Amino acid sequence: MDAREQVEDMLRPDLRGRTAYGAPQLDVPVALNTNENSYPVPHVVVVAMTRAVEAVASGLNRYPDREFTALREGLAAFLSRSGTAVDAAQVWAGNGSNEVLLHLLQAFGGPGRTALGFTPAYSMHPIITTTTGTAWVDGMRGVAGRGAFDLDAGAAVAQVREHRPDVVFLCSPNNPTGTALGLDVVEAVHDATDGLVVVDEAYAEFARPGTPSALTLLAGRPRMVVTRTMSKAFALAGGRLGYLAADPALTDALRLVRMPYHLSSVTQAVALAALAHADLMLETVGVVKDQRDRIVEAVAALGLDPVPSDANFVLFGGLADAPGTWRALLERGVLVRDVGIPHYLRVTAGTPEETTAFLDALAALVPTHA
Ligand code: PMP
Repeated sequence: MDAREQVEDMLRPDLRGRTAYGAPQLDVPVALNTNENSYPVPHVVVVAMTRAVEAVASGLNRYPDREFTALREGLAAFLSRSGTAVDAAQVWAGNGSNEVLLHLLQAFGGPGRTALGFTPAYSMHPIITTTTGTAWVDGMRGVAGRGAFDLDAGAAVAQVREHRPDVVFLCSPNNPTGTALGLDVVEAVHDATDGLVVVDEAYAEFARPGTPSALTLLAGRPRMVVTRTMSKAFALAGGRLGYLAADPALTDALRLVRMPYHLSSVTQAVALAALAHADLMLETVGVVKDQRDRIVEAVAALGLDPVPSDANFVLFGGLADAPGTWRALLERGVLVRDVGIPHYLRVTAGTPEETTAFLDALAALVPTHA
């Protein structure tokens, strides 16, 4: 037996033969494949972060504040700017919202339990679910007479009632479709289950006006959590800081599963420095939203089929050969995402120049590839 076979032999049976999460990290001129913010961290914030790291560096011989108290207060103050008051005790954080989701599944999922999400949605939801030994149920999106990727309260509730999951994932705005959910759907799903309802709002800051956050529903609903991240609008994907808001009783339960000191002193310092400059860090959101709207329009003008988006990316269909178009765009230096939906690709809205590069490359391909 070679090493690979020996490892495969030892592996948990449910992990055998699986492939790892794999958005390609390629060195290309125009990277529009992982919904990052294309704009670098502003210089003023770079200086503040550097100072903050310097200030904690000599204390790195000690473990960090396990309760990340200052960071929770900073995140609570930031969320409260939305108009819904959020207290530090309601906030939990991790190394990216992926880790926050993992904590939720470790605490509220597990062997013998089930989580349901409405696909196509964020590909890590089923991966995080199954790595915790929780069973995954693929719910379906699609509303007759509306979009194939919409979800309405009736369809969502029927699926929740049928499968009786312990955890329900709602993703709004949804990755990879960009579709935001009405709060009526969130409320109806909450009332149809006695399990946990996770509203993944990684892209909330990009939503078009009139798309309220589920933060407004949290009061009096201890079975609901709203997850957010600093990786997208906040332009801090490399800083790895995700967070959630929920009832203090729920955040308290997450202490049972987190590793002690999971947020390093450096992570806490960098995230706090970014939060202290929240307006500056979020300054590019308007430009990115404009590019998103420009992509929707321009892609439609090419005769393709963009899905209306409340996020910083656009899913577009109508491609005869999506993997072929993906490769041809890459040959022109533009990396987008093939999310595995036949005839569709997803592109992140970046700078105006990146958008132009993408649209020019796509326009040159459409007659042959669409
Ligand atoms: N939720 C959704 C819907 C996402 O698209 C992503 C990142 N692609 C995440 C969560 C996780 O992001 P992070 O771990 O960087 O916070």
